[in-house]
Order: sequence, then structure tokens, then C-alpha cells
Amino acid sequence: MSEIICDNLQIIGRRIREAEQRYQRSENSVKLLAVSKTKPLEDIEEAMACGQVAFGENYAQEMAEKAQQESVKAAEWHYIGPMQSNKTKWVAEYATWVHSVDRLKIAKRLHEQRTVDQSPLQVCLQVNISKESSKSGLLPDQVLPLMEEMSTLEHLCIRGLMAIPAVTKDFQAQRMAFAQVRELYESLNAQGFALDTLSMGMTNDMEAAIAEGATMVRIGTAIFGARLAI
Ligand SMILES: *Cc1c(COP(=O)(O)O)cnc(C)c1O
Repeated sequence: MSEIICDNLQIIGRRIREAEQRYQRSENSVKLLAVSKTKPLEDIEEAMACGQVAFGENYAQEMAEKAQQESVKAAEWHYIGPMQSNKTKWVAEYATWVHSVDRLKIAKRLHEQRTVDQSPLQVCLQVNISKESSKSGLLPDQVLPLMEEMSTLEHLCIRGLMAIPAVTKDFQAQRMAFAQVRELYESLNAQGFALDTLSMGMTNDMEAAIAEGATMVRIGTAIFGARLAI
């Protein structure tokens, strides 16, 4: 077994702690989600051997297949990919969290398919902050109405917002996009919601996301290496 994944996890952990300090965030307020999409089970096993518990997957069937493997039974699965209604059953059955809910139909299916013996599914609503038509997610002014419509779905627990801003290398531009997500999150809490999760930041914009209040960063490449294009 190579030790690269372990080393990478330590490096990322250090980068997170340094960013927390630099941007006056409390210690350990940012949780690391290891994005293992397209990566083999051995990589997940190796990360778990180094203490990583939470894993993010983009393809519902791939997540379901991995989640059923005995060697990674203790992992916590987060579904972060686009939501399709014919894939909700896998998410409801195997995920602890879903970060990409963006319409009522999907929320209702997840609620109906979550069985009563399971704890409620932890949900983030995905916001399309850069307003790119190609991206999934709610426009900012659609978030509150959906949250209100979802309030009766007791098998779901709304925890916060997730965003994937347009890719840019410019740190200030990254921060400005994440700041919009944070402002929306703060305004929802000011209106009586009790959100505690801002899922934002990937390998190339993690520090900017932490500067703007991320509580969960979703890191793939910096832990597991580059993915083949699929
Ligand atoms: C792939 C993916 C990530 C991880 O991206 P990296 O740049 O590899 O860190 C995070 N979030 C989502 C939604 C993704 O699809």
C-alpha cells in the first residue's frame, strides 16, 4: 500500500488548519470531505486507515456499490452529484448527506424513500451562484421558497447550502462568489432557519471558501490525484 493518500490527507489537514487561523475561523470548524468519485475501493480503504471517515461521490450507483462493501462499512457517504429522479433511491438508502438538492420533486422522493428506521437524511440545497445555465442548482431567490416547501418532509433535515462557483484562479473573485453564498446563508438564518453547514471549496479554491465561512470543503484531486476524464 502506498502512503501517498495518507500524506496528502495530512497536507490538506494542515492547509485547512492554517486557513482557519489566517481567516479567524475557530479551530476545527472546517470539516474535510474526501471526494472519491471514480477512485477504486483501495483508495478509500487507505484514506480510512489514516482516519478519514466522510467521503463524497458524484454518481449514485457508484456510491451505492462502494457503500455495500464490507471493508468500507464504517464510511459516511455524501452524495454531491447532480440529482436525477431515477437515482434518488440509491441516495436515500446509502447516503448520510446529500449536498445537491435543487427541486421539490427530488426532495419529496428522497423523503419518501428514506426508511423510518434510518436517521433523517442530512440535506444541503445547491445554489447556482455564478448563474451559469449549464450548472445545476437553485438561483438565490429560489432557496427560501424551496426550504419552506420542504419543511413538512420530516425524513430530511436541511443543514445548509452547497455551491460550485465558476472556475477562476483569481483569489478575490473566488472570495466574492463564496461571499454571496455566505450572505444568503446568513439571511436565511436571520429569517429563523438554523442552518449550520456551508459546503463550499474544492482543491483549487479551498482557502477562499474557508475565508468566507465554509464549514465543509470537498476535496478530490489533492487527496487522490487527478481523475481520468469521463
Ligand atoms: C469532483 C468534485 C469535487 C472535488 O473536486 P477537486 O477539484 O478534485 O477537489 C468537489 N465537489 C463536487 C461537487 C465535485 O463534483
